[in-house]
Amino acid sequence: MTLANGRRYLAIPGPSVMPDRVLNAMHRGAPNIYEGALVDMVHGLVPDLKAVARTTGHVAIYIANGHGAWEAAAANMVRSGDKVLVLSTGRFAAGWGVVFDRLGVETEVIDFGKRAPVDLARVEAALKADAAHAIKAVVAVHVDTATSVKNDVPGLRALLDRLGHPALLAIDCIASLAVDRFEMDAWGVDVMVAASQKGLMTPPGLGFVFFNDKARERGNDAPSYYWDWRPRTQPGYFYEFFAGTAPTHHLFGLREALDMIAEEGGIEAVWARHEKLARAAWAAFEAWGQGGPLEMNISDPAERSHAVTALRIGGDNGSRLRAWVDEKAGLTLGIGLGMAEPDDPAWHGFFRLGHMGHINAHMLMGALGVIEAGLDALSIPHGPGALAAAAKVIAEA
Ligand SMILES: *Cc1c(COP(=O)(O)O)cnc(C)c1O
Repeated sequence: MTLANGRRYLAIPGPSVMPDRVLNAMHRGAPNIYEGALVDMVHGLVPDLKAVARTTGHVAIYIANGHGAWEAAAANMVRSGDKVLVLSTGRFAAGWGVVFDRLGVETEVIDFGKRAPVDLARVEAALKADAAHAIKAVVAVHVDTATSVKNDVPGLRALLDRLGHPALLAIDCIASLAVDRFEMDAWGVDVMVAASQKGLMTPPGLGFVFFNDKARERGNDAPSYYWDWRPRTQPGYFYEFFAGTAPTHHLFGLREALDMIAEEGGIEAVWARHEKLARAAWAAFEAWGQGGPLEMNISDPAERSHAVTALRIGGDNGSRLRAWVDEKAGLTLGIGLGMAEPDDPAWHGFFRLGHMGHINAHMLMGALGVIEAGLDALSIPHGPGALAAAAKVIAEA
């Protein structure tokens, strides 16, 4: 039999769980895109969005997913023939590098593998080798959603400053914005990309590029028409602001999500909730791992994201567990993206638990509870005490 009927928990790491409040805010007729409530609302939305990113710089909003935001940032930051340094810590950083490549930008890629963050010593060596300052931007992810690694962004800024290297610092926060602490201005990030469907709890369809004056001045002065970020910083010209029709309903959804963040106590409170829930999940994974093959992909908690945890469980256990909890218990876990090729049997030995956005303690405990049931049902060996360990973390909050 199945016990899956009831409210499901989509724990693939994006799109994340969408709050009813966000969906209800979108449930309305078409608004006027030239004047009135929508236009007024967007004037207030822009500063609130910047506050979540901790920046007083600019934000351009695109009708796009994360890949579109990648291309938007790349098209404005650099010109064809320029060079960027790509710091690959999993599928997503590498993916952004490909976007630069297709725009005719030379990419030097440093690969840090699938289980480690950026090693600043290797970045230092690459920047020192660039005495002529050919590298126009250093491109990295804050959190790589495939490996669940979290990179030391302030460390990258400190390195660039120490070496006196003028490259822009460009960071992908698509998974981490409104989940893991991120301070765009204080950390000296010049360009940051994000999207609506992860920590921001809104359906996929909005891409954001945050940027500072330095990036605008140094960037491409002739980007392609649609991606050009300059007209998108002036909400007064509403039609130009979106290069055409505004993403009307997504904007109402996003407004509601930003209100929910404010009501929770602001972004600090949201970061604190995610940290606590991540630590509860890790306590459970740690305990299960004591008596079986389950292992967190990133061993050092300081290098793990609070948005998603990537797990290794060997054999075909990952695929079996995902199928079991989905069919029997209403929990959809993420695949092990980029850890092995889909035609490699090793592909089945991974899974990910997304814990970003609209999730709370009972959802997380429910997810952990049914993972334990799945491990039992499938006779996958695991250590005892995982649920108690997770509950203890939550009790101590
Ligand atoms: C999800 C994600 C992307 C890709 O976003 P899409 O909306 O699927 O294009 C890029 N980078 C990171 C870090 C992500 O988590």
